[in-house]
Amino acid sequence: MKWSLFVGRPFGIRVYLHWTFLILLGWILLSQMGKPVQNVIEILAFIFLLFASVLLHELGHALMARRFKVRTRDIVLLPIGGMARFRKLPEEPSAEFLIALAGPAMNGIIAIGLFLLLVIMGHIPEIPQNLTLVEGPFSLIENLLWANALLAAFNLIPAFPMDGGRVLRGLLGFRMSHERATTITAEIGQALGILFVILGFMYSLGLLFIGIFVFLGASAESSSEQIRSSLRSYTVSNILMKHYSSLRPEQSIIQAVELLLAGQEEEFLVIEQEKVVGVLTKKEIFNGLATHGNQVSVRKIMKTRFPHLRLESTLDDALRHLQENDSPIAPVYRGRKLVGILDRDNIEELLTLNKAMQQYLESPLRDRA
Ligand SMILES: [Zn+2]
Repeated sequence: MKWSLFVGRPFGIRVYLHWTFLILLGWILLSQMGKPVQNVIEILAFIFLLFASVLLHELGHALMARRFKVRTRDIVLLPIGGMARFRKLPEEPSAEFLIALAGPAMNGIIAIGLFLLLVIMGHIPEIPQNLTLVEGPFSLIENLLWANALLAAFNLIPAFPMDGGRVLRGLLGFRMSHERATTITAEIGQALGILFVILGFMYSLGLLFIGIFVFLGASAESSSEQIRSSLRSYTVSNILMKHYSSLRPEQSIIQAVELLLAGQEEEFLVIEQEKVVGVLTKKEIFNGLATHGNQVSVRKIMKTRFPHLRLESTLDDALRHLQENDSPIAPVYRGRKLVGILDRDNIEELLTLNKAMQQYLESPLRDRA
């Protein structure tokens, strides 16, 4: 993963630290300049524990997801809450609700635990008036308590992309379709975003930014859901490319270039003994020429990570497999027989056509035509 540092593999899940964590670290250290060394050590301990809290939040999602047989690709930790990336999130309401809730619940449990710990030690913590770190003999525990309470509260805002958006959609999903639940959640999110922006203008700049973030997140989720639901009504067979050229791994890049120049095709399957062993696009051919020159073999430059698709898969599944493998094309099979190629550009074209058709159907001019 770009811009991220690998930190470990708890429960078999790869965990990365996003570079923005380092900005947070730098900013806090700068604000501590000239203060005693003990303060700086305390701050570093706080950051470390904050990092652990965010990790526990994500592990909450990941381990709950595992109960629903959903695998986690990796976890990326950001200062505002991190991100667990899943193979495929379930759309059943109960699974979505519980997986989304498990993260903030982790922070809630940590906050309550720390609160009780402070009470046992004879110190009743007071809610801080603004977003600064508390000082005093129990400051480390107190700051961690408020940070966790804030993480739980922020992530429970009922709008995408926060967990709260998914919690709400899960709840709504018990009574309506996934599409309808997404639309309503997105509308609530957009309304909340606008409310935050207005309140932000009046009270705090921080709220203003959260408002913009919430509004954009809600809009993005709503349009990606629309895309998913329109792709669900098509299968791979609808846009299969049946005519395609292929290469053999031992052929040279020159032959790939000749094929590229000979026609409209920009993507090729690499086939060895009737098995697809790689794919080759314009990008690999250009990069191959630039780095290895014109003597290199197809085997050396072909992309070996690509999905094998079935003719009857829905296009939203097919697109997800292409994205997960970061591949623009894939071979398509009927049973075990290779029948053609699926190309990501074709999926996008289909979506554009769909959108144009939608506009036509909704256009007020239609009746006059
Ligand atoms: Zn979360």
